[in-house]
Parts: sequence; structure tokens; C-alpha cells
Amino acid sequence: MFRKSDNQRSYVNRLKETGIIYLEKLNVFASRLKGWPGWARLKQDHFPGGKSISGYLKEINWKSRKMIAAGVIVAVAVVSLGVYLNSTAGGYALAVNGQRVAVLKTRAEAENALRTVLAEKGKPAGQIAFTKDQVTFDPVRAKEYELSTEGAAEKALGGKLNLFVKGYIISANGNNLFTLASMTQADAVLQKLKDNYALASDERKIESVNFEEKVAVTEADVKPEQVSSSDKVLADLLKGQVSTVNYTIQSGDTLWTIARRNDMMIQDLVNSNPGLSDQALLQIGQTMSIVKVQPYLNVIVNGTETRQETIPYSTVYRTDYSLGPGQSKVVAAGSNGMKLVNVSFTSKNGDTTNTVALSETVQQNPVNKVVARGAGAPKVQVAMASRGSGVASGFIWPLHGPIASPFGYRHGRLHTGIDIDAPTGTPYVAALSGTVIAAQWDGGYGKMILVDHGNGVVTRYAHSSAFLVSVGQHVSQGQPIGRVGTTGNTTGPHLHFEIILNGTPVNPLNYL
Ligand SMILES: [Zn+2]
Repeated sequence: MFRKSDNQRSYVNRLKETGIIYLEKLNVFASRLKGWPGWARLKQDHFPGGKSISGYLKEINWKSRKMIAAGVIVAVAVVSLGVYLNSTAGGYALAVNGQRVAVLKTRAEAENALRTVLAEKGKPAGQIAFTKDQVTFDPVRAKEYELSTEGAAEKALGGKLNLFVKGYIISANGNNLFTLASMTQADAVLQKLKDNYALASDERKIESVNFEEKVAVTEADVKPEQVSSSDKVLADLLKGQVSTVNYTIQSGDTLWTIARRNDMMIQDLVNSNPGLSDQALLQIGQTMSIVKVQPYLNVIVNGTETRQETIPYSTVYRTDYSLGPGQSKVVAAGSNGMKLVNVSFTSKNGDTTNTVALSETVQQNPVNKVVARGAGAPKVQVAMASRGSGVASGFIWPLHGPIASPFGYRHGRLHTGIDIDAPTGTPYVAALSGTVIAAQWDGGYGKMILVDHGNGVVTRYAHSSAFLVSVGQHVSQGQPIGRVGTTGNTTGPHLHFEIILNGTPVNPLNYL
């Protein structure tokens, strides 16, 4: 036998109950209407003859077709209303700029969904996000399945709302660079960038630290995803702006010249152009990509610094007739001297761009190494060396590259060597055979090597990134002894090369 399911039964029961409730409400309304003073007049106008409503109703021919039709319509309307009221529930429509996003059961739920979205989206910036869109909560009736959960409403809202937080934008010369969540964070990041290049110590006094650019922090309404963390902004500021540009190879280009012109290492150039190798033939017109790194902000530091510098010892020869020709012996070991040099400096992002010597104090004089040798020993090689003679009797270039700065007076001070440009990491060689008498950090020279060639001749190689030899080691001419770098006072990677004759630096170009 067919049985109504429990669900159907309870549905019918609920329908009946709802019907009863609304009929009761209608009764209450009717009785209130009767108590209304206007009712009597209304009755008089529409039911003339002073008949009661019940009396009037009695006169209606209930059996007429008209009345049956009207009755059916009323019945259908009442049942439909009941079904509608029963199958729908009260809810709140959440709308953005008049467009419905979700319907929630209660206003509290709807408000909560909005609050959660604003809090969640603002969280990374440590703020409550806000919107300029119009958000409304309107009471509506909705079917059960039309109701959203708070989670679903939040998702729908999040996708619809234009959200903002307060952003603090760091700009340089009017160009916006980075956005932080607070003025305090922006100021702290800028200060940390300055501090990174303004390390003070007993030997190093900082007088001023400034940005080369006009730097400003301005408040603005920004999208939450535009806000970066302090750590990320500082890391990006320290790293610089990395961009890739295409370069078209021209006549006369080599990997070496392209790398040097763009302040890159050849290896980096090869890495960013996997098809190329050191040996690859460059085709004129072929394009290659060049990765450029430019600082977003330049930190200019002014100050004074006291540096300890080595005064290299020289080797002097004495003729000893008790020794045979070609024989020699060390009479006294040499030792390097030391001096304190006080300079005022200007640096840009940690690289010294200018120094002026203020004073110099010799702490310890160098002691010559004395070598005795028999008569008829070979003559001093230096005296025979001449420009351009790349042979064993003279000096050879320690490194091939353009001379960025010659020997001589520059801004009133003597530049005691020549600066040969080359990318960091490029090996340089001993200009003449000799003995390494220093391979150490030495003030503005940075990592520096001194090679003693005898006869009072010493060569110096400064600003190295690495040493390939150690003190006491004998090196032959052309042997790689170090790598080009930027240690000490440099404006970029180069080798500072000196030839020192009896303690006095001379112009290397006269001997190369
Ligand atoms: Zn130099």
C-alpha cells in the first residue's frame, strides 16, 4: 500500500500549521479593523442600507458561477501564499553597489562576513581593510538552498569588493618604488639602508649620510597586495633593480669588452646567454641579453678614516768579493714598515668615490733586506726594462684592460699606480718573478699583494677579491697571483698596480 513518507506528512502538517497561523493573523487584523472609527463610514458608503456585513454576505448568491470562480482564485492564492511562506525563510541579502553577492540567514551573519573579509584582507598590512563600494544588507525571503554559509559569502564578497588599506609609498625623485604598511616601517627601512653603508668604528667617523635622490614617503589608499614587508623592501633596496636588456653585437665586440662595458663578469654574461660560451664566435648583429643591476637609491656617506698601510721593504744588494760570480746570500732579512694615514672620504653605496689625505704618521720604518753577492752578478733588470718589452728581462702587464686612472697627481694628491679595469674575479699575474712579501688587507688598498723582485724593486697589486699566493712564496713572471675585486677604496672592480723603486712609487708605464 502506498504510504506518504514521513517527510511528506510533516510537510503537509507544517503547511496546515502555517495556514492556521496566517488565518489567525487575518482574524486579528479584522477585529482591529472593526475597532477603527473610519470603518463605520466605510461600511455606510459600500454596504448601503445599514446591513451588517454578515447580512450582506447572506444576500450573495454563493452558488453563482462568478462566486465559485472567485472562491477558487482566493483559495489558490491563499494556498500559494502558504506554500511560499513555508518553503522560504527570512534572510539578509548582502549586496555590493546594488549587486547581490550572497543571502545570509541573519543580519549579524551578513555583517560578520563583511567584517571578516575586511580583517582578513587587511591582515598582511596589519590593518583593517576598507572599501569605497556601497555595501547593503536588505531583508529578503529566500529559499533554503539560496542561503549562503558565512564562508561562501566571504569568498563572494572578497572577489567583488575593491579593498584598500593605507599604504606608505617610498619614492625617489617622484618615482614610486615600494609601499609599506606604516610610516614607521618606511622610515625604519630607509634608516637600515643608510646604516648598511655608514658603519662607524674607532677608525671610521661618519659625518653625514644622505640619499643622492630626493626621497619621500607619502600616505595613500592602496590595494592590500601592493604592500610589501619591511624585509622584502630592504632586500630589494640592497639588491638593486635587476633588468634585462637586449644587446646587439657590434663589430669589434668580444665577451670581455661587453662584460666590462656593462660591469659584469664574463661568467654571468655566459650564464644569462646559455647558447654562448667563452669560445663562442660572436656574430655581428646577433642579440644577447644583458642583466643590469641598478641601485634604487644611492647612499652617499662622508667621513674621515684612519687606515694602517704597509710600507714595503726593499731589497738592496752588496757586492761581496768573497763570493764567486752568481753566488749570493741574505745578510739581513727585510721587514715591512707601517704607517697610519688619516683621510677624508666620500663613498657611494659603500664604494669610496673620493679620498683626500689629511695626515700621515709613520709607525714603523721598513727595514731593507740585504743580499750579498759575488762580483759579476747580473745587472739590475729594471734599468734594462723598457716600455713595451713584454720579455723576461722586463715587466709584463699584470692584466690586460683599459687604464681607468693613470699614475700622477689627481685632485692634488699623487696616484701612486695605475688602475687597470677588469671584471671582478679576473685573475692578474706577477709582472716579474719574485717573492711574495705581503698578501693581506691593507687599509684603502683592500686585499693587497707585494712582490719583491730584488734590487730595491717591489710591485703592489691592490683591491683584490682573492689571493692565489701566500707570503714567502716564490712566483714566476706571468703566474696568476690574485683576482680583481673591489676591496678597499674603489669605485668599481679594477687592479691598482704599482712599481716601487727603493721605496718610491714610479710610473709603471715607463717600465711596461
Ligand atoms: Zn689606484
